[in-house]
Amino acid sequence: MSDDSDVKTDSPDAGQTAIETVLDSLDALVYVADMQTHELLFLNAYGRAEWGEIDNRKCWQVLQKGQKGPCTFCNNAMLVDAEGAATGVQVWEFRNTRNNRWYQCRDQAIRWPDGRLVRIEIATDITDLKDLQTQLTAARLQAEQLANEDALTGLANRRALFALGRSAIEQARRQGHPVALIALDADRFKRINDCYGHAAGDVVLKALAEVLRSHTRAADIAARLGGEEFAVLLPATGLKAARDLAERLRASIEALDIDYRGQRIQMTCSFGVTASDSGSATLDQLLNAADLATYRAKAGGRNRVEDEVCR
Ligand code: GH3
Ligand code: MG
Ligand code: MG
Repeated sequence: MSDDSDVKTDSPDAGQTAIETVLDSLDALVYVADMQTHELLFLNAYGRAEWGEIDNRKCWQVLQKGQKGPCTFCNNAMLVDAEGAATGVQVWEFRNTRNNRWYQCRDQAIRWPDGRLVRIEIATDITDLKDLQTQLTAARLQAEQLANEDALTGLANRRALFALGRSAIEQARRQGHPVALIALDADRFKRINDCYGHAAGDVVLKALAEVLRSHTRAADIAARLGGEEFAVLLPATGLKAARDLAERLRASIEALDIDYRGQRIQMTCSFGVTASDSGSATLDQLLNAADLATYRAKAGGRNRVEDEVCR
């Protein structure tokens, strides 16, 4: 450092100036406040630019909005123990009430040169980081949703049926409960597309999915396996109850009167129902047995329910 530099170290005042110069150069808020009176003793340049000059005011008057006294969220009490000794650095995240920006705050109690206990806070603006975190969380949730959800109907997709179904079946097996599966395939769906167009077919598939959704419990897994084929996995359900539900689904779908641009579309589905009494079957075995039953329902004239015990 040259001799004519502003920063001199030969007097205590000049020493303090040097430290203040360092603190003023930080891209972070640094302030010091009396722990008893909340009197603001020091505010660095970053703080003054953002919140204004100290002007004999208290920390809660300068740094926070609408305070009539010390802030309710003040963490001074955490900075000292029962004997009044400093407890070390407390790190926390806080949204400033005056500028609404997020800060990571590092607070600690120290002795000021005049002997009083003061809080020193170093606060870094982490708003951009927070925004990025929020965006990342939203993107992760969306990716998870896309990976597990059928885009057209919002039902679980085949992948999700296998992921969720495996643990549901495992739980049924442990508890010795039955587990049932209903498979359904839209009848002569190609004709619907041919008559009314593919977009109309999509509307019909959504209406069908809505029937499945409205007839199932939270523990059931209604899924679109692909195309015009669906399945519902029913934990703790035996063959008789699953058949009854399939019959109600069949009747509700047959009763649908779907309006598509002024045209009324009806449809039916063929159902294959299966169940494993003690939950010992795998999802593949259940799907195979339900497929066999669906095939019989198609061969038997469609718009009907057939069942097949899964061994
Ligand atoms: P079946 O009674 O024997 O099941 O006759 P089907 O016409 O339903 O059976 P097929 O398998 O011959 O045809 C299925 C049709 O479903 C053909 C395909 O274009 C249609 N499809 C599959 N996925 C979609 C989709 O996402 N949207 C629409 N609109 N149609 C679809
Ligand atoms: Mg099919
Ligand atoms: Mg079909």
